[in-house]
Amino acid sequence: MKTIGVLGGMSWESSLEWYRLANERVHDALGGHHSARIILDSLDFAEIEELQGRGDWDAAEALLAEHAQGLERAGADMIVLCTNTMHLVADVIEAAIGIPFLHIADTTAAAVLGAGVRRVGLLGTAFTMEKPFYRERLEQQEIEVLVPDAEDRAAVHAVIYDELVHGVIRAESRALYREVIERLVAQGAEGIILGCTEIELLVSSDDAPVPVFPTTALHVDAALAAAGVDLRPGA
Ligand code: GLU
Repeated sequence: MKTIGVLGGMSWESSLEWYRLANERVHDALGGHHSARIILDSLDFAEIEELQGRGDWDAAEALLAEHAQGLERAGADMIVLCTNTMHLVADVIEAAIGIPFLHIADTTAAAVLGAGVRRVGLLGTAFTMEKPFYRERLEQQEIEVLVPDAEDRAAVHAVIYDELVHGVIRAESRALYREVIERLVAQGAEGIILGCTEIELLVSSDDAPVPVFPTTALHVDAALAAAGVDLRPGA
């Protein structure tokens, strides 16, 4: 099994989920006392959140590239960045390392296409829903992307930064997300991308009338497949 280098802490609540899922999946696949080979570099989210707020993407890309290089030096065979938002600087990270970088939008796109879905609703931070870096990566793969209207985008974003990254899970926020999902489906979304690594802590397939694509879980599976773990049932 290869070693996965995980850039986490953005937020740690979702890194914890990533780590738990990875280990559970390896245990389910290989049995016995098996667990995932992971090197985790967990950043201080305050630093990231401040750079996001200032729009200082140059500093953010330099910081994340440096940490990715550290994971490579520590022996990682590949890098995963456990946040959708910070994939805004994915190109710089990828260029800074000599090992594969598993882009979260690519693993998500593969699942969307695999499910036969061509038009998705995208939920995430304002950065992910409004800036082109994520949407265009999906559109390059012939996936049409719908985002909520401005009011819904602000509400979805606020739940992430005010609640989910602090581990706060509220039924009211789940109800709000369900309403936003319903509106996207009414506009023609055939599936919903949970395009923020904390969202699957709040909503699941039970909260949508169409398939949902949980980016954290999908990213875990892609990383484990790249690490050589055969996740096929009964393999
Ligand atoms: N983890 C979130 C994401 O997947 C948001 C927090 C962040 O800005 O990194 O986009």
